[in-house]
Amino acid sequence: MPLIASNMNLNLNELKTITDGFQSTKKMPVLFIGHGNPMNAIYDNRFTQSLNKLGKSLEKPNAILVISAHWQTIGTYVSTNPWPQTIYDFGGFPKELFEVKYEPKGHPKLAKELIETVTSIAVKENIDMGLDHGAWTVLKHIYPNADVPVFEMSIDFEKSPTFHYNLGRELSKLREKGVLILGSGNIVHNLRLLDWNNANGKPFDWAQDFDLFVKHNIDNRNFKPLVEYEKYGKAALLSVPTNDHYLPMMYTLGLADEKKPIKYIYEGYEFGSLSMRCFQIG
Ligand code: ZN
Repeated sequence: MPLIASNMNLNLNELKTITDGFQSTKKMPVLFIGHGNPMNAIYDNRFTQSLNKLGKSLEKPNAILVISAHWQTIGTYVSTNPWPQTIYDFGGFPKELFEVKYEPKGHPKLAKELIETVTSIAVKENIDMGLDHGAWTVLKHIYPNADVPVFEMSIDFEKSPTFHYNLGRELSKLREKGVLILGSGNIVHNLRLLDWNNANGKPFDWAQDFDLFVKHNIDNRNFKPLVEYEKYGKAALLSVPTNDHYLPMMYTLGLADEKKPIKYIYEGYEFGSLSMRCFQIG
C-alpha cells in the first residue's frame, strides 16, 4: 500500500522537521491573556487587534505552551497529542463560532521535555486533549495561520495558588528552548454578575479595584499579595468567586524574570465583571 506508506513518511518527516527545528534559542517572553467572551474568536475589535499586533511583535516560537482556565484536572497533565483538535467547550453561542477551526500541530517532544523538566511532581501524559477555547480563541488572533505548534498543560484544581506559582517557576527552562508560555484566564471573572448591557463599558467598582490592585503589584513585582489574593477582601472575593480563571496567571508570574520589562498588551473590561488585562513579561 504505497500511498499510505508515503503519507506516513510525509507525516513522520513533518514531525521530524518540527522536533528538530529549534531555530529559536533566545529566551522567550511569557504571557498572560485575558480571554473573556468566546465570541472574541470571530470579532474584530480593539482586544483582538491588540492580540494580532502582539503576534507580529514576537519572535516566532518553536511551540506555544498554553495553561488555560478551561483544562482543569485532578493531578497535572500535559498534552502529547500531535494533532490537537478544536474543542467547543461552551454552549448557547451562534453557529458561526462552532464553525471556527484552529488546528495547529501539537509538539509531543517538547511536551515530554516538560515532564522531565518538572521534578516536584509527576506530570502525566494525555494523548487525546485538543485545544480548549481558552487557547484557540486567542491564538487565532496571535498566530492566525496556526503555523506554530501548540500543547497544553492542565491546572490541578485541588492545589493552592502557591503550588501553581511554584510549578510555573519550574517551567523556566522551556523558555530557552523557544517555548512561548501563555497563561489564559481572566484576572476578574464573575459570570454571575455579568451586565449584558455593558459589553465594553465601565467596570463595577470592585472589579476595577481588584484589577488595579493586581496591576499595581505586577508593576512592583510584588507577587506575594497576588498569590495570597484572598487577603485583599471583598473586592477579591467578588472578582475571583472561583479561582479557575485566576490561576493561569500564577504560572505567568512564577516565570517572571527579575529585571525584564512588563508590557500591558491590553487593558479593558467586558460586561462590568470581566477584566481583559493582558501582559507580557520579558
Ligand atoms: Zn474562560
